[in-house]
Amino acid sequence: MGRLDGTVALVTGASSGIGAATAEVLAAEGARVVLAARRRDRLEALAATLDGDPVVLEADITEPGQAASVVAQAVERTGRLDIVVNNAGVMLLGPAVGAPLEEWDRMVALNVQAALHVTHAALPHLLEAAATAPRGVSDLVMVSSTAGRAARSGSGVYNLTKFGLGAFSEALRQEVTRRHLRVGLIEPGATATELRSHLREEQRRAQEERFRTMEPLQAADVADAVRYMVTRDRRTAISELTIRPTEQES
Ligand code: NDP
Repeated sequence: MGRLDGTVALVTGASSGIGAATAEVLAAEGARVVLAARRRDRLEALAATLDGDPVVLEADITEPGQAASVVAQAVERTGRLDIVVNNAGVMLLGPAVGAPLEEWDRMVALNVQAALHVTHAALPHLLEAAATAPRGVSDLVMVSSTAGRAARSGSGVYNLTKFGLGAFSEALRQEVTRRHLRVGLIEPGATATELRSHLREEQRRAQEERFRTMEPLQAADVADAVRYMVTRDRRTAISELTIRPTEQES
């Protein structure tokens, strides 16, 4: 018997890295998972390995209509929504002076706007689940970063998006916690995923150099933190959880 039997969990950015690993652990706990991202082939390959009749939704959630539609389709196909993991994100680093504006826009559109749009559409369903489901609680998990705790030169807009996510999560947590919707912020440090593959060459080399001697987290380590958050008894809310490679200082 899984601790999440009978629940439905939507994971954005489930086609790789932390999102894919999170979908795996939630499905292993008994949740029916809804996998959302742009790369349908990757989602389908993952879904084929999971129990519990997973749902695949191909969507670019930076399109407001598609973000809302992911939530609507999740509920239409499964009848409910108990857990949402706002995980999809992109990290484009480099000096602010002369930065391609398009990179800033991409980060704000995905890390902030898409997370807000998914959250806005999901809130009524999560509140409904908290009020009516046997578990007596529901979960909204925001995947932030250690970059949401400490700003660094060359990371300003990524920092802005993740600090912003933290502020919004805390305000929302206070608003809904008496209704048993838990809002939890996860702040991972360096994790071995595809995240750095979107960096320009020079920035990728700088990142590799910064983390060269450090053993990174695996996506499964972060997924385990999400699992911990969403499997607590209804009296316990893990509001914030920072998880770093042991050798990462800040
Ligand atoms: P990945 O690049 O492996 O995963 C990013 C996911 O986001 C992919 O599944 C991608 O799928 C999805 N995505 C990107 N654009 C869109 C879009 N427009 N619409 C829908 N989905 C989209 O990186 P991670 O797993 O590392 O990143 C997951 C989260 O973890 C991010 O929020 C990141 O900021 C955060 N994080 C990562 C850290 C790390 O060191 N890796 C450290 C701290 C936080 P697709 O391309 O198929 O759309």
